[in-house]
Amino acid sequence: MGRAMLVSDIRVISSERSCQLQAHVTAGTLGTDFLLYYRFPPEYEHVIDASIGDPFVAMLLVPAMRSGETLEIHAEVSPKLMQATAKIQQTFATWNPEFSQIRVKAPVRQNPPEAHGSRRGLFFSCGIDSFYSLMRNESRSQQEEDKSISDLIVLRGFDIHYGRRDSGLYDRLLHNSLRVADGLGIRTLPVATNARELTDRYVHTSWSSGGFLASVGLCLQKVFREVLIAASDTYGQLVPWGSHPYVDPLWSTESLTIVHDGCEATRLDKIRFLADSPLVMETLRVCFQSYATLTHSPRLYNCGMCEKCMRTMVGLHIAGALTRCRTLPRTIDIELLRNTDRGERLFHQTMDLIENLGSSQSDLIIKSALQDALHSLGRRRMRRRMLRTGTYLVARYAPGLMPLWRSIARVLMRMHVPDRRLVERSEGRQIKEGLSRDA
Ligand SMILES: [Zn+2]
Repeated sequence: MGRAMLVSDIRVISSERSCQLQAHVTAGTLGTDFLLYYRFPPEYEHVIDASIGDPFVAMLLVPAMRSGETLEIHAEVSPKLMQATAKIQQTFATWNPEFSQIRVKAPVRQNPPEAHGSRRGLFFSCGIDSFYSLMRNESRSQQEEDKSISDLIVLRGFDIHYGRRDSGLYDRLLHNSLRVADGLGIRTLPVATNARELTDRYVHTSWSSGGFLASVGLCLQKVFREVLIAASDTYGQLVPWGSHPYVDPLWSTESLTIVHDGCEATRLDKIRFLADSPLVMETLRVCFQSYATLTHSPRLYNCGMCEKCMRTMVGLHIAGALTRCRTLPRTIDIELLRNTDRGERLFHQTMDLIENLGSSQSDLIIKSALQDALHSLGRRRMRRRMLRTGTYLVARYAPGLMPLWRSIARVLMRMHVPDRRLVERSEGRQIKEGLSRDA
């Protein structure tokens, strides 16, 4: 008998403060039992269903692929979702050879669930992508009624810590989401989960993100007919990623459709679309540093210094809105921008910014800093290529020297400006060499 990741003892526990869907997860690769849970407001007690195994398929399929274990769930799974697990697995396996195709063992639901949801939810973080999806759907809904969003799902435990390292950040996000929802006359639905404590042991969140969000949606299939996940990339810039317009809809069931929304617009298009909204300019939150970095103060709404904050600030500057944005520094630190580690995935977005900057003195300075940042990206890519060639040559002609080569390669790979240095600088929030559009 092969190894298995087993989900059992699924139940709903209600209290005055919350309604909790929970399950025990055991796996050979896990060591101890893990109590996985999702918490919803207490009034959701009647719609959270412990007889449905769908959320656990979405949350654990990719982690189980990484560990190579059979995923066994002691609850019924939607026939549509069960069938789609093959396609999802094929996709991940071609993206990354570390994912192996595994068996999903669960009873298939014979009768469709009686209650169907009618609402339309959107995962909302006060970021550019989810704000765009909200406002774009809002403007569409004036022509087509079924396009309007009824609920902002505000998640704790995904990009904001839940548990020991919790801070006031989530409360601030929820407060701002309530403001946005009130402004539009729609609902806010706060949800918390400890799932990342489990999924992070197997895969980076860049691989688990789509299934993670879909899983929360699937807990709520008696509430929603559609749940939207806001896109980060356009159709023209797609890369293998956990949340993807091809994969996200595959997590759907007979009663709930998962939608990957907003691939038609670049990040800059989205910023331009949102730039005139005072509500957006007062509540915008783009920074993930509170989760990513142990050394970073988790209380900061936006650090104003990380790659994502800086990229957004340049976009706002181009849209003429940086000085109106109340949650980010109003000036761009050029040295910081020049030294930001952009990562290859962001090449297109950085090029988009460069192409859209104008010819004013401040625009030219920002443009040259972004170009410098891209050049260092080119240098890193070149170094990786050289290291790969070196490894090939040593393996082919001097295999005895491989341990020595590995030590040299490790030293060479570390020779770049690490993100941490930027984060340490960000602690002081010193904005030197500031430039605003008016400068
Ligand atoms: Zn930041």
